[in-house]
Amino acid sequence: MRPLLRPANLALVLTYLVLSAVPLFPLALGIPVARPAQLAGIAVFAWIAVWALFKRPAYFHWLLLPAFIALPAELYLYIYYGQGISTHHLGIMAETSPLEALEFLGARAWLLLGMMVGVVAWWAATYRAALATRDFDWNDRSRPLVLALLAVAAGLFAYGQKAGVSGATLKPAAVDKSRLAAPAPLLPASTLPRLPHWAQPPFDIKAFAQSWPFGVVARGLDFYKERVYLADLHRKSAAFRFHAFQADPAKAPDVIVMVLGESSRFDRWSLNGYARPTNPLLMQEPNLVALRDLITSVSATRLSVPVIISRKPAMQSLKDGFSEKSFLTAFKEAGYKTFWLSNQISFGKFDTPVSVFAKEADRVEFLNLGGFTDNSNYDEILFQPFARALADPAQKKLIVLHTLGSHWNYAHRYPARFDQWKPSLVGVDKPVLTDAAVKPQLNNSYDNSILYTDWFLAQLVGKLKTGDKAAALMYVADHGQTLFDGACRQVFHGHNTQYEFHVPAFAWYSDAYGARFPDKIVQLRAHRGAPLSTENMFHTLVDLGDIRYPGDTLERSIASAQLVRHKRYVDSYGWADYDNATLRGDCREVIDKGMPLPRK
Ligand SMILES: [Zn+2]
Repeated sequence: MRPLLRPANLALVLTYLVLSAVPLFPLALGIPVARPAQLAGIAVFAWIAVWALFKRPAYFHWLLLPAFIALPAELYLYIYYGQGISTHHLGIMAETSPLEALEFLGARAWLLLGMMVGVVAWWAATYRAALATRDFDWNDRSRPLVLALLAVAAGLFAYGQKAGVSGATLKPAAVDKSRLAAPAPLLPASTLPRLPHWAQPPFDIKAFAQSWPFGVVARGLDFYKERVYLADLHRKSAAFRFHAFQADPAKAPDVIVMVLGESSRFDRWSLNGYARPTNPLLMQEPNLVALRDLITSVSATRLSVPVIISRKPAMQSLKDGFSEKSFLTAFKEAGYKTFWLSNQISFGKFDTPVSVFAKEADRVEFLNLGGFTDNSNYDEILFQPFARALADPAQKKLIVLHTLGSHWNYAHRYPARFDQWKPSLVGVDKPVLTDAAVKPQLNNSYDNSILYTDWFLAQLVGKLKTGDKAAALMYVADHGQTLFDGACRQVFHGHNTQYEFHVPAFAWYSDAYGARFPDKIVQLRAHRGAPLSTENMFHTLVDLGDIRYPGDTLERSIASAQLVRHKRYVDSYGWADYDNATLRGDCREVIDKGMPLPRK
């Protein structure tokens, strides 16, 4: 044991131990860790395999660089969001400009930069130690033995992948249902005999990706695969058809509008009972039906919007992409001209999960060239293209408006005349979102942004009222927002609080529409208090367009007498049953009274 006690060697071994122990870090924060023994086993196996392959630390130390670099982000995410880096975080990072990232991090950007410099220096110092020492070289006869065993295991695994495994009863954890449900690339029928089940090495890529330090690389590979998968899905859904048609061409609605709200919170609308009059205009609309109990299952735009606009099941929302098209295509098939007008980020390449759907529209306009930054436009930038769409000679039109709504920084979402509740964030130079000291300003600005949204939506309704058109408009927010409520230390979205799941939503219809479809209005009003989710939106919008297709699901339409209640799951420590849950603490974390279903 003497060589181990040399300072450089000791530092090297301790470094490896610390990196390997990262998956246990959540325990220090009181967050449970699933299958810790399996994680530890995988880590030990990975160390043995790498050490055997490369013989000495100096030869494999560079393999650890991704883990070093990921370490600050992993710890940050655990401390503030209760979860480690996932494919989705990598997706968000890939789709977020450095400016947005800086704005989000505020003063923490420097801290993060300092930590990055620190971990790279740590990696370099331990690399030197690894280069200097020969004490850890694996030279004895056990190394070829281990290598031979590894080769056999790798061979069996590769064979099992190619020929399949017979009598395999896969453990639920190892089955990725959403991938199976997606049209997977079919392997050519193999003529090789299947691998007996007992001979299959117990290798699970998902579990491996959760282990440290080598699993970090697997997460990057997983992300890359997701992107390829997304591009692939886009190609696959290209051939998708609803075979939709107008139920009665003689009385088709003229205009259907879908407004996608952003970071808007149910209880901050006076329409829903908020004490501050944040909806002075919408409250005057008699043809407006506010839905009181509608939730989203996930609180991130890129995950939530696909569930709203397509038939993507909420419990598949964590997976990028979907094999079907959105309601844009259903309306197109029924003869509507379709518009996607967005004040959200185009992400440069128009290639995000939401943009894949947006591309279905006949006309796509991304109007926000400024991003989520100070220079971004107010949502009223959508008025002109909206007016142009309404004036389009096409007889039937579907217009989708994707707004910036109440996205952070709230003070940049509304012009000065809406700065009603003060002190607000207006004039606060570079406020830091996560700084609880600005809680009053942050809340006032948030309410001001709702006041602006009220005005924005009332303007749209006003334009639809002119000209006696049979028009209907639906609004729903993609998720809410947590705002340092009470003693809650959380802010923004991406948590599992009721403040983020419970979203404002309403339907509005013109008099001409009401006269043409009285039944739909009766049903909408009858269901205003029903337990609903964003999974109802696709079916409701298509129904409001009086569009049918083979296999359509009127049981999910809020405007149909056939509406049936469905199970509502939210992403909270797995899939939690929203209607059989308690709300924990001032954050109102949604906690399933039973066991949440595992995330897929
Ligand atoms: Zn959002």
